[in-house]
Formats: sequence, structure tokens, C-alpha cells
Amino acid sequence: MTLSADMTQRILASVEDGFADQVAMTQEMVRFASTRGHEHAVQDYVFRALRDRGLTMERFSMDEEAIARHPGGAPFSADHTDAPIVVGTHRPKQETGKSLILQAHVDVVPTGPADMWTHPPFDPVIEGDWLYGRGGADMKAGHVANIAVLDALARIGLAPAATVHVQSVVEEESTGNGALMTHLQGYSADAVLIPEPEDEMLVRANTGVLWFQVEIRGHPVHVREMGQGANAIDAAYRVMESLRELEAQMNAQKGAHPHFEGLDHPINLNFGKIEGGDWASSVPAWCRVDCRLSLYPGMAAADVEQQVRDHLTTLSRADAFLANTPPQITFNGFFAEGYVLEPGSDAEAALARAHEVVTGDALKDLVTPGYLDTRVYALYDRIPALCYGPISQNIHGFDERVSLASLKRITGAMALFVADWCGVEARE
Ligand code: ZN
Repeated sequence: MTLSADMTQRILASVEDGFADQVAMTQEMVRFASTRGHEHAVQDYVFRALRDRGLTMERFSMDEEAIARHPGGAPFSADHTDAPIVVGTHRPKQETGKSLILQAHVDVVPTGPADMWTHPPFDPVIEGDWLYGRGGADMKAGHVANIAVLDALARIGLAPAATVHVQSVVEEESTGNGALMTHLQGYSADAVLIPEPEDEMLVRANTGVLWFQVEIRGHPVHVREMGQGANAIDAAYRVMESLRELEAQMNAQKGAHPHFEGLDHPINLNFGKIEGGDWASSVPAWCRVDCRLSLYPGMAAADVEQQVRDHLTTLSRADAFLANTPPQITFNGFFAEGYVLEPGSDAEAALARAHEVVTGDALKDLVTPGYLDTRVYALYDRIPALCYGPISQNIHGFDERVSLASLKRITGAMALFVADWCGVEARE
């Protein structure tokens, strides 16, 4: 189905009319410092915003046991949030179109040292075309765009002619358990759209991600007898070097993984946090390293976990100190597999049409070497999982920012996509 020229123009004009309000709401969202474990207030805000729009609301917490039983469930750690997941559901008078999930996450990554930001990280300053702030691009702009699409239709007396679930999740940046929980709660649809900041392109494939912590125990002595002790920090260097070898082996296999053969370095191992020792004059007795490793689509998370364990067992056996004190490995976050969006779905065709109307260009795709919640819908619901959103810079870095002109374009494209995919009916 394609939208008429008249309907297309009315919808895009309505997106334009609502855009100032959309930007203001995005700024309000950025003001919530919703780092991991601190998403409760922003979820209350989202709950009210969706309820005030007449959606049927549900708010629920994570079911740790159900998540643990699921192959895509990530282990809980002490840092796991207890903030709820919020879903608002639109039900049409008559279900004539195809149903849809519009999903976004409210959790944002840590800011790092605030003095390295030009403006305070949660102050949503606008300069020229850019809206600044931690989590603005990733992904509160997209989150509000999901809502703005329904507002744009409502402003011209329309609503989707199919069920639409607007999902606001947590834990996207650390486990993916929020998205998984919506699946376990029973939500599904004919397609999902997640407007992550993907530079107006469609994600064709992405990697899975594992988080694990390696803990090395040493033998503490006074440094004057250093030779008799065993330095946990020195041993951590050997563990980290060894894990870099595993990373290199995995990157060397990229040719066997369609969509990833053209990337320079598809598998990224990140040492994200390190701590150890007690002070300068004792040989350190402990060191902990937090690691993040990606994996190609089609690889099972449990298999890669075993590869990591086997790799470090081999290292330990050949190491005079680690042989007696092997490192402890704890999987404590992401346990997610990658996915491929198979070309040719009706949902992708509808989004491509909408994108082309708004931008004048064909929709391009890209391959991302990072985690995306779309994997839950692609792998477990087996529905077309579209990840497509605005142009951004510096996500997860300093001075994160999102382009407002791009945000308006992708909101227009999303509104046309929803009208096309779901159909529209008159609001009463
Ligand atoms: Zn994101």
C-alpha cells in the first residue's frame, strides 16, 4: 500500500507543526539523569505522557527467574536496575492494518568527567542544529519521536488502524533485559521500529555482546620481598594481553560472516573498568577487569562464553602464578547474540518508501558492531526488526549531540511508515 499525496502532505505538515513541542519534550527527557539504576523518575514521566494521550498503560518489573531461563537473558549483577518497564498500547476501533511495536530505551551511559563537557551533560542546550546532552541522541530523541508520530496523526484527527505498543525500556546499555522482558511479558507485533541514532540508515546486521569480569588474586607481601609475592596487577596485564589474542582470532574469522567481512575490526574487546590493589607499597593481592566482547550473528552466547573460559584456562596452565591461582570469570551483563535483518520484508519496503519521500534518497543500510535491542524481536519474535534513527555525534562520549533537522526528517519518515504499515482511521 502507498499513501496518497494528499495524506502524505497532511502528515508531514503535522509533524512540522508539532516539532517545537517535540524538541521541548526531548529536552525535558534529557534533564532526567537516567543512568543505570536511576531510570525510575523518567519512566514515571513517560508513563504519564503516554497515559495522558489515552493509551492503555502497563508498568512491570523484571522477572529475574524467567530472564535467567531464557537463552538471551543476561545475568543479574548488583548494578542491575530495579526500574520498571512501561508500555502504552493504542488499540484501534477496527484492526485493519498491521500491528507495530515502537520501542526506545531511557537508560543512558555514564557521563565521564563532567569538566570534559562543554555544557553540563544533562543540560539540553541547543546550538544551531544540535541538541546537546547525555542520552539526547542515544536515545531520548528517538523515544520522543515514537510519541510524536502518534501526536502528528492525532493532530489531524487520525490514529493507527492497528494495535501499536509504545515500549519504554531500561537496561539497553548493560544487559538488554528490558527488551527481553517485554517479550516475556507477552508483547509482540507484526514489526518493530526502534529509532536509535543510526544516521538515517537502516541497521542490516549487528553483533551480539558479552560482559564479563575477570578477577585475579595475588599474594601480598611487602615490596622489599617483592620477588616472593605475586602481583595481581602484573597478572592482569597477562590476562588482558591474552584476551587481545582471542579478539584478533575472532576478527580474523570475519570473512566467514556475511555483512561483517567489509568492516575493519568487527569484533571489539573493550577493557571498560579496572581496579585493584590497596596502596603503593604492597604487592597487590587483587585486580578486577570489566570486559566487553562482541560476537558475530549466528554465534551462541554460551559458546563464546566457553571460548573465553577455555582461552584463559590455556593461558593459566602455562603461567607459573596463574596455574595455581586461576582467574575467576564472572559473566555479569550482556549475554546477547547478534542478528541479521533479512532483506525483502514488507516492513522494510514501507520504511524505505517513507524515507525516500522525506529525504529524496534511497534508504541505505549499515552494519553495527554494537548491541541493539532489535535482537530480541529479530531472534525471539522473529519479526522484521527495524532500527533507524537520526544523525548524531559523540554518543557514549563527551558533548553527545543529535541533529534537529535530521530528527525532523526521521520523525516524518516514521509517521509516514506508521500510517502506511498500520493504516489510519478517524479518531472519534
Ligand atoms: Zn541506544
